[in-house]
Amino acid sequence: MADNNIEKLLAWAISQLKSMPQSTDSPALDARLLLAHCLAETTTYLLTWPEKQVSEENIEAFKKLVFLRKEGRPIAHLVGQKDFWSLSLHVNTHTLIPRPETELLVEKALQLSLPETAKVLDLGTGTGAIAIALAAERKNWHLTGVDRIEQALVLARENAQYNAINNVRFTCSNWFEDIPLQTYDLIVSNPPYVESNSPFLSQGDVRFEPLSALTAGEDGMQDIKQIIPNALSYLKTGAWLLIEHGFNQANAVEACFHEHGYINVELVRDLNQLPRLTLAQKTG
Ligand code: GLN
Repeated sequence: MADNNIEKLLAWAISQLKSMPQSTDSPALDARLLLAHCLAETTTYLLTWPEKQVSEENIEAFKKLVFLRKEGRPIAHLVGQKDFWSLSLHVNTHTLIPRPETELLVEKALQLSLPETAKVLDLGTGTGAIAIALAAERKNWHLTGVDRIEQALVLARENAQYNAINNVRFTCSNWFEDIPLQTYDLIVSNPPYVESNSPFLSQGDVRFEPLSALTAGEDGMQDIKQIIPNALSYLKTGAWLLIEHGFNQANAVEACFHEHGYINVELVRDLNQLPRLTLAQKTG
């Protein structure tokens, strides 16, 4: 290939990705992320050294990734990594790719006034994103992340180690099913909550993520409706349950919390003013 410098390779990739607009709405950024990954460099490096020649081997690897992106494969899967909070997390096809909107959950959890050595449970931990982020911010908290998918646990443990976080452990359970009875100061979850017939499931990156991590029955409430009542046995008096949900599920989630006797139900909106989290306290 004659066009073997960084600038030309990026231009080629952008034109490829633009020809499949349903695959990505950020062709230039995607091209940079993929090339940076192949060269084991930062995207800043690419902008600084547009004239640098790229080896045949790296060009081949890059072309492969660009074609996969054209098919719609998520960037996070192609580079095997996603930034979340202050962390760099490994990702694979067994779990949801951590979303920036879930950082709001981490932020809210950190604002709660909890004991110095709080025991915190993360249900459906996936890559471990939430549990590891909380553990990184609060070195004296004891985090437990659970997931029913073994491959997710392998990934989550790897992520904790990769980010040098020691105050988190991961165990296998389908929601509370295999968690020994004990009480926590805070339970958090980003459960599946997408409606099973959502048209949005056939668009973009979600097509390549496990449906089991995304959908929860026709109204998307199936798992949340299990978690809210079952959490009561695992919460201390005054402890919080904090859940991420769809922006159209706030009323249903609030009603479910009230139905099961929780108090201080609070809704949290994101920067677009969409209601994306609800938390509530177990009463005595
Ligand atoms: N917010 C995610 C999405 O938009 C859904 C994540 C989930 O179901 N927990 O795809």
